[in-house]
Amino acid sequence: MTTALFGHESSLGHVTPSGHPEQVARIEHIMAALKGPSFAALDRRDAPACSDDDILLCHPQTHLDAIAAAAPANGTVALDADTHMSPGSLAAARHAIGGCIAAVDAVLAGEVGNAFVACRPPGHHAETSTPMGFCLFGNAAIAAKHALERHGLSRVAVVDFDVHHGNGTQDLLWNESRSLFVGSHQNPLWPGTGMPEETGGHNNVMNLPLPPHSDGRLMRATYEAEVFPALARFEPELVIISAGFDAHADDPLAQLNWREDDFTWLTERLCDVAEQHAEGRVVSTLEGGYDLNALAASVAAHVSVLMERAG
Ligand SMILES: [Zn+2]
Repeated sequence: MTTALFGHESSLGHVTPSGHPEQVARIEHIMAALKGPSFAALDRRDAPACSDDDILLCHPQTHLDAIAAAAPANGTVALDADTHMSPGSLAAARHAIGGCIAAVDAVLAGEVGNAFVACRPPGHHAETSTPMGFCLFGNAAIAAKHALERHGLSRVAVVDFDVHHGNGTQDLLWNESRSLFVGSHQNPLWPGTGMPEETGGHNNVMNLPLPPHSDGRLMRATYEAEVFPALARFEPELVIISAGFDAHADDPLAQLNWREDDFTWLTERLCDVAEQHAEGRVVSTLEGGYDLNALAASVAAHVSVLMERAG
């Protein structure tokens, strides 16, 4: 088996204002990095558009209606200081969610060993009824709910290593006892949530704040001491990764000092967890990462491990 790579041209139609870090060029750089002979074995698939029912797994109809109504006919509109929509944003978001859902389907069907979804906008900051932090809908949380509700899984882990706290995923899965949400992130840093005391409605949320200027050594020690034991106790049947690459030392939005080999190590260890408990099943979806070259190199490192481990 191999790794599925889900993408869609609509990701290039979600346009943010000039100078915005969450930009079209992110996908262009990632796709350029995933060309060439080392990535020839990827099973490249178009991310389908999701349905309204998919979005309603996590969000109320009022949120979907509000996002649809906010979309501009031309130019861009600001939903808040960070989060913008262009005419193509809703379609892009639907394909980003649909890519995650199709990735779950393909991995659970055994068509591929694991999958990476290279779409935008990202999702982990979108709360139940609030778009936030470049995100419109909770892509990873919707994928988790899809696996639980429609595939009948009993336990799904969502591991978020983006440098910002995944407040949206935490909000959407707060009362979902069949999920374990584990997030590491820099603190202090926007959005300011993600303290260890935030443990979910069923002790199903685990937050690991990391201090600014810490590097991959602290990340590795923290995951070894806290995250991997918690994942082993939970015994996930599927591991979903919110893969943000903005903890990289070169990233302009944060001050952690991870390098590509840290993303390689973390991906390997998360694949170990999946092999021990989940038949190797991993679905990874792009979140942040804003230095274009560091993003491309880090995604290439991440996907290379997924391909090695796809079986
Ligand atoms: Zn981020």
